[in-house]
Amino acid sequence: MDIAIVGSNMVDLISYIHRMPSEGETVEAPDFRMGCGGKGANQAVAASRLGAEVVMVTRVGNDVFADTTLKNFRKNGIDTTYVLRTDASSGVAPIFVDPDSRNSILIIKGANARLSPADVEAAREDIARCKLIVLQLEIPLETVYATIELGEVLGIPILLNPAPVAPELDLERIRGIEFFIPNESELELITGMPVDTLDDIGKATDVLLGAGITNIIVTLGSRGAMWAHADGREIIKAPAVQAVDTTGAGDAFIGEWVDHGDVTASIRAGNRYAADSVTRHGTQSSYALADGSLPEG
Ligand code: ATP
Repeated sequence: MDIAIVGSNMVDLISYIHRMPSEGETVEAPDFRMGCGGKGANQAVAASRLGAEVVMVTRVGNDVFADTTLKNFRKNGIDTTYVLRTDASSGVAPIFVDPDSRNSILIIKGANARLSPADVEAAREDIARCKLIVLQLEIPLETVYATIELGEVLGIPILLNPAPVAPELDLERIRGIEFFIPNESELELITGMPVDTLDDIGKATDVLLGAGITNIIVTLGSRGAMWAHADGREIIKAPAVQAVDTTGAGDAFIGEWVDHGDVTASIRAGNRYAADSVTRHGTQSSYALADGSLPEG
């Protein structure tokens, strides 16, 4: 195994609407689409499409959405040994997209909110065989902290993507992690510092370095990413592309975080892969295979 992803899965329920109904009203919507998502699942799919061996530790419900998610993991070659069934709804995200492409999103975490430290402990033997553990914040914080502790015991580096941001994230309990990858707004909320300029962003990363995190990589959209570490900081630019849909770009960037030998090479590869993904619509449907082609179906 290369990567253990301890995180979320969701099924996106996308309604294309003319307008939102007002209270008590029923309106017809012209179109509907279902898609697999959730930050953990997106990152797992990107990593697996790039050739990494991925084991996913997550919880699904006991419903048709669970079947959809499991089928999607298997289709993408992800190890589903620790995709656990729960007596709850699966994580779902009803999304409403209006004719101007503006969206309103509801997130129902469902079974994701039940992923426990004991579930992670149950996967210990397989996690121990991985080179990297990847975490986001769509699961309970106690499970995130327990996974970090397990990583420390096993001597496996941790990558934490603090999304969606949890202002109550305790920096003391994530001390010592190897890679922390927020976007600008997550960095702002976690540090309580402004991120208006690159200088501001650099100063905010100093707070996290001071809190004992080894590498902070701030994703900067079309500008690429800033890498801050004990010896300094640098900007690694993303290739210029014609972006049509940036949804899921952050997850693509992290999915590409396989072993590239050094951090700069990983960031370059992450920029390239994520920039390529924003040239296509959709989230997982925009993630290419290692040879640049798209998977069939
Ligand atoms: P999302 O929430 O949409 O998944 P994010 O806010 O977490 O995204 P961003 O910082 O917007 O993450 O983007 C992640 C990475 O994607 C960037 O570091 C960059 O490599 C790439 N990227 C995003 N937008 C563009 C763009 N317009 N052109 C080139 N690369 C881009």
